[in-house]
Amino acid sequence: MSAATKERRAELAAHLEAVRARITAATTAAGRADEPSLVVITKHFPRSDLDALVEIGVRDVGENREQEAAAKIAEGDGLPPGVRAHFVGQLQSKKAGAVARWADVVQSVDRSKLVAGLARAADREGREITALVQVNLDPAAAGEGRGGAAPEDVLALADEIAASSLTLGGVMAVAPRDADPDPAFARLAEIAAEVRARHPGATWVSAGMSGDLEAAVRHGATHLRVGSAILGSRPPQG
Ligand SMILES: *Cc1c(COP(=O)(O)O)cnc(C)c1O
Repeated sequence: MSAATKERRAELAAHLEAVRARITAATTAAGRADEPSLVVITKHFPRSDLDALVEIGVRDVGENREQEAAAKIAEGDGLPPGVRAHFVGQLQSKKAGAVARWADVVQSVDRSKLVAGLARAADREGREITALVQVNLDPAAAGEGRGGAAPEDVLALADEIAASSLTLGGVMAVAPRDADPDPAFARLAEIAAEVRARHPGATWVSAGMSGDLEAAVRHGATHLRVGSAILGSRPPQG
């Protein structure tokens, strides 16, 4: 292993440890017994970083662009057994089949067309895919391309996923930009509870990123999606 590789691995390990400490502290502060799972978002960073993360114990990795992820994961060496690949980005319907080739979890399902496309592709590929309904918590951002189903459409979409060959995992959301994340995550928790009332197995609440994971933990997040706090800052527009 080269000195640069070693140094990068040590840096990632230190950042990972710091993030895990934040999660533990937030879990304790929230009076929760269960610590949320960590999904490390590797977008914009090379396959070598992903491999280093797996070596130091990361078991869930996420990407937000289909092409980049396919190159890094599907056309790379695949992922070692036991490591799950998550897709967290905006997805064009025609790319659903491509994502279904490598993703174990698609966190960003926000319309019917995607349910049908993913289910068809999962059947064809013989793969089991967990799908989360992405909820738009920021009405002002509707149509801005950040994605997410309107809160009033979430239950119908969850029903559709549950009736398909996909596994309904629960819900996912990104807090509104430049706003207090607490009310948004509180709203997400309510929506998640409504979904769970109909689909008891749909226990996932994916919320919280590098900047707001503490708020997400306070509001019951079961999965956190952390990128820059572990990998470093990305070029603008990620
Ligand atoms: C990039 C990304 C993250 C991680 O964001 P950081 O602020 O880098 O931690 C989480 N969720 C989604 C949907 C993302 O695209």
